[in-house]
Amino acid sequence: MTHPPSRSNIYFDIAADHLGLPDRMRTLLLTPERDIKVQVPIRLDNGDLETFLGYRVQHNSARGPMKGGMRYHPEVDDPEVQTLAQLMTWKTAVVDLPYGGAKGGIAVDPRSLSKAELERLTRKFVDQIHDLVGPNSDIPAPDMGTNSQVMAWFMNQYQKHHGFQPACVTGKPLALHGCEGREEATGRGVVIIAERLFHRLGQSLAGKTVSLQGFGNVGSFTAKFLYERGARVIAVTDVRGGAKDPLGRGLDIPQLLEYARSNNGVQGFPGTEPLTNDELFTQNVDLLIPAALGGQFTSKTAPFVTAKYIVEAANDPTTPEADAIFAKQNVIVVPDILANAGGVTVSYFEWVQNRSVVHWPLEEIRAKLEQKLSAAFDAVWQVGQEKKVSLRTAAYILAIGRVAQATELGGGGWRLAVILPRVTTRIPTVLSAWPKFVFLPLRKNYQRCAWSCPASKSMTPLCATAANVKGSIFRFRTSSPSLKSWMT
Ligand code: NAD
Repeated sequence: MTHPPSRSNIYFDIAADHLGLPDRMRTLLLTPERDIKVQVPIRLDNGDLETFLGYRVQHNSARGPMKGGMRYHPEVDDPEVQTLAQLMTWKTAVVDLPYGGAKGGIAVDPRSLSKAELERLTRKFVDQIHDLVGPNSDIPAPDMGTNSQVMAWFMNQYQKHHGFQPACVTGKPLALHGCEGREEATGRGVVIIAERLFHRLGQSLAGKTVSLQGFGNVGSFTAKFLYERGARVIAVTDVRGGAKDPLGRGLDIPQLLEYARSNNGVQGFPGTEPLTNDELFTQNVDLLIPAALGGQFTSKTAPFVTAKYIVEAANDPTTPEADAIFAKQNVIVVPDILANAGGVTVSYFEWVQNRSVVHWPLEEIRAKLEQKLSAAFDAVWQVGQEKKVSLRTAAYILAIGRVAQATELGGGGWRLAVILPRVTTRIPTVLSAWPKFVFLPLRKNYQRCAWSCPASKSMTPLCATAANVKGSIFRFRTSSPSLKSWMT
């Protein structure tokens, strides 16, 4: 499934209207700083040569180094990675981490490769991009299809190029500069946010009934912490099927965790009835938590949702059409950029520890996470109340406002570029009298020309189509010598 970049742009535009952002700032904030696509050839165990495609989109670094997961999945492609990179920019901003957003991955089914092949693939990918990422520029983390082992290979290969740099990647194993509580962090964060929501509504999470889609890393830890805080998970689905408590008392989550581990899924858990995703969405529960795939709530599925509260543990589970339906049905939705930010928050703790070569105990991590996410939820709630908007719009207003402000404040590092339409010469006019202005010729395929820029380390490619950039003024970061050498 592809994720058109326009999906999150709709949420962006609603918030940008509230902020009164000028068009040029919108273009700047929506345009990825750099879009990397590399060939990743490896030798398979049988001796054959196989070529994969690797991606890394670095969306925005106005607030700090860019941060985002690395996904191994057959459907990884440029539009999907662009959308997810942009979400990371807003996610890190809404939680007020000193980061920007990025995302990457390789189009591969990791289950089709042996462990040795996966290791070679990861190391080759690092060789291809190592000079474009790092602890001060772009810090990958695990995502779908990757795990702490992949991060360990990543770090090891990166260090072969750059020396001791444990902060180059997060989500590493505990024994190799990893962080206590990283594995549970996203699920724990989802439950902290849900608890905060009910607290704000003058209610309690304890006793609430819940339907949960997905029982992987995020879903299983979410279920565990919901159970510990007294909520009743009535129904769960995963890729193989579902399980529903026919009596509505709530599933025994510790036993379900055991069962799912040994049976490769939740279906068939003793004492339950089977359940499909469509049935899961229509369960008569208080809270619905998507913790699996994107694009689950659409104009087709949303009208049948009966829960009054949704906490988006998955990334991008709700289409804008479904979001509008939820608004009409008075369903309160806590958006992904806030609800699942626990993972990146603990990744930030890992990065801080790695940079100081210290190790914080689990209880300290948990307390810091609770404090950080509660503060973020309260800030979003307050914007929502003041502006009378949904929590999603409030979260985007807060996040985009912070990134726009940082961009304005850091304006000294930007140059203005005027893209001239139909310029016949390939040599730009660089006005030495006013070095802040650089005139660029419009080339037929500007996007490709930006990607091919050899000065890519200091230059921020404008990944816009020619139609978008024609005759417009853009700002981008560059050191003029390298830009000039590329241009001439
Ligand atoms: P995972 O691979 O560990 O688990 C995914 C789960 O979804 C599995 O239980 C799988 O069976 C289930 N699933 C897949 N297809 C399904 C379908 N059609 N119907 C029902 N269930 C289905 O992945 P994860 O790390 O738990 O991530 C889940 C979601 O949370 C993703 O959207 C991911 O982007 C998002 N997320 C993850 C983290 C993290 O730290 N892992 C952080 C933020 C957001």
